[in-house]
Amino acid sequence: MARTKGHGNPNWTHDEIVLALDLYLSLDRNVPSPRSPEIQALSAVLRSMPYHLEAAKQPSFRNPDGVGFKLMNLRQLDSGRGLSNVSKTDRQVWEKYGSQPAAVRNLADAITKGMRTILPEEIPEEVEELPEGRLLTAIHVRRERNPKVRKMLLDARRATGLRCDMCELSRPGIRADLEEAIFEAHHIVPLASAGERKTKLSDLSLLCACCHRAIHRAMIIEQRWLTIPEAQGLIL
Ligand SMILES: [Zn+2]
Ligand SMILES: [Zn+2]
Repeated sequence: MARTKGHGNPNWTHDEIVLALDLYLSLDRNVPSPRSPEIQALSAVLRSMPYHLEAAKQPSFRNPDGVGFKLMNLRQLDSGRGLSNVSKTDRQVWEKYGSQPAAVRNLADAITKGMRTILPEEIPEEVEELPEGRLLTAIHVRRERNPKVRKMLLDARRATGLRCDMCELSRPGIRADLEEAIFEAHHIVPLASAGERKTKLSDLSLLCACCHRAIHRAMIIEQRWLTIPEAQGLIL
């Protein structure tokens, strides 16, 4: 079960706060009435978030009043005027994106489009979020595990020998099926930049399972996207 606060509704996630921030910035930092079409529309989007289907059975979940309050939290962070019960996640999202309206817009677009392509069961109950938040983390992992994507990468690299792009590990002498089991595909382009297009070979890096785990962990800790050289600097 998601953690709850206040009236029993789950805490706002990074994804949801990004969507609220996108609205706040697009309205020139004004907070409209809960009856406005903009607030009503965001409430409807949040109530259809695939990982909140259970919570959304409650009429109070992300209702227009609640969405208005969240915009007032963001205004508090922006100007010192608003509702001061800001959460840690509100603050993190504001610090990362408050001064980057274009990045917020890209991310919000990727989240709303992603919401339509992912099934609730594809999103784990408890997930450590990559910098792009819970929904796009699930899509990132799904893309990397896609057998076609994995095969494309392995086929392309087989001619020169399978080798980890981070630590250069290779096991050329062993059975091909065991050798393949050591390696995973890692998507190096943030989803908000890649958009909905099909994964290309140049979007992918071949990593050993150990380095793949480590680069994801480093991005979770740093809460920013890391290139392979940046991750090498941290991990090797
Ligand atoms: Zn490696
Ligand atoms: Zn990855």
